[in-house]
Amino acid sequence: MALKLFNTLTRSVEEFHPLDPSGKKVGMYCCGPTVHDFAHIGNFRTFVFTDLVRRYFEFKGFEVNHVMNITDIEDKIIKRVRENKTTLREFTGKYESAFFEDLAALNCLRPNQTPRATEHITEIISLIEKLVARGIAYKANDGSVYFSIEKYRGCGCKYGQLVKLNFDEMRPGERVSSDEYEKESIADFALWKSRVPDDGEIFWPSPWGEGRPGWHIECSAMSMKWLGASFDLHLGGEDLMFPHHEDEIAQSEGAGVQQEGKPFVKHWMHGAHLLVEGKKMSKSLGNYFTLRDLLAKGFNGPEVRYLLLSAHYREQFNFTSEGLNGARAALARINDCLGKLRETARGVVASADPAFILEIEKALDNDLNVAQMWGGIFEWIRELNKQMASEGLKAEQAASALAAWKKLNGILGLNMPQQHLSAFFDINSDVVEEPGSSILMQGDVLGETSELSMLLSNRNAARKAKDFKRADAIRDELKSKGWVIEDTPKGARLKKL
Ligand SMILES: [Zn+2]
Repeated sequence: MALKLFNTLTRSVEEFHPLDPSGKKVGMYCCGPTVHDFAHIGNFRTFVFTDLVRRYFEFKGFEVNHVMNITDIEDKIIKRVRENKTTLREFTGKYESAFFEDLAALNCLRPNQTPRATEHITEIISLIEKLVARGIAYKANDGSVYFSIEKYRGCGCKYGQLVKLNFDEMRPGERVSSDEYEKESIADFALWKSRVPDDGEIFWPSPWGEGRPGWHIECSAMSMKWLGASFDLHLGGEDLMFPHHEDEIAQSEGAGVQQEGKPFVKHWMHGAHLLVEGKKMSKSLGNYFTLRDLLAKGFNGPEVRYLLLSAHYREQFNFTSEGLNGARAALARINDCLGKLRETARGVVASADPAFILEIEKALDNDLNVAQMWGGIFEWIRELNKQMASEGLKAEQAASALAAWKKLNGILGLNMPQQHLSAFFDINSDVVEEPGSSILMQGDVLGETSELSMLLSNRNAARKAKDFKRADAIRDELKSKGWVIEDTPKGARLKKL
């Protein structure tokens, strides 16, 4: 089935076809974090969306080369390094590691390449040299090198491919040196910023003197180095559309490195904004959350991931604590159904239910229509629960449903990642406790933790609901896996037989 996605370039939903003549390989770039602070939940909406796109492309059989840069040199970073009286690498290294920990907590697959800007200064300089040689970039009186929008347009190139711009309001000769600027000013922007006293020891030599790269050129240089001068897919938050992505196109196409008729990027995808409790996220309003803030409140990665995946990527999404509680309930419903399916399947193995997989594929092929997908998933669960309640589901059917879920979860990524689990379960200890619940386990739980804890939770839930038949069935299943339940005053505990 054909995959259709909205392309910001053409402002329409298009069938996706990769540039690769064999139709297999897909080059995908997403603007990564600026490592000057912990990433907030709005940032992670973009990264979870990107992860969904990647996983879905892989599900469709494409070989994805996923590149995400690390912006480790930029205006704000320099300011923070100065304020914190530290070194660039020490400062950015801390936030870079934190970012990858957060990404793992959200069960996002690690991109195939995560290039750092500071390790691509040579590529950046060589790209600027090309622009200077073509007369599109110039060195100004302040010693910095700027991109000339007028010269670029004079070459027949179009500035304003992603957003409509009003050039009548543009004042000739206007230029900006800061990395972020407003849409109102269509201005020449800095490619290479000459060293100023505030930069301290952060500078590199270049043909134009000591200095550092501008933010926009970093992404052009790194994406083209790792994916080639033309590649398939560029993703990012919609706030990056202008000027950042527009400038990426201008720099990359202005350098004239693409084959004739080929664009820098074929397909642009932008994720919409995130509101928190109905308002734009801001530290002063108290609705600014990093992932760490949410984990500290007792929510976990899969819950946050589920909530971020519940809305369509092009829709503005209102992130609320009520939504997180809803995510917890929804995941519990899924897990509960999966637990019952395991009991019903009793170890039988079957291939995935093709009708259900087809239904999900239909929804996601339609510009990643997650509303349609979730509707299908919960209808499926309702139906399975109904059949299991009346004991009308055969072991083979349950096994087939489980296999379908496994396949689907390759796209959703809602399982607890091992790195994340180790934070909850001390795997080196004899008695393992899950904070916030009465579940205790004893013995070697590495690798089995997720399934065992789920079975134990389900058994506790069944007992609470006085469904002793089911509680006993789970006890037997645990026993068949070599675990015995011990009820202690502190709660139920698992012990190896
Ligand atoms: Zn970028």
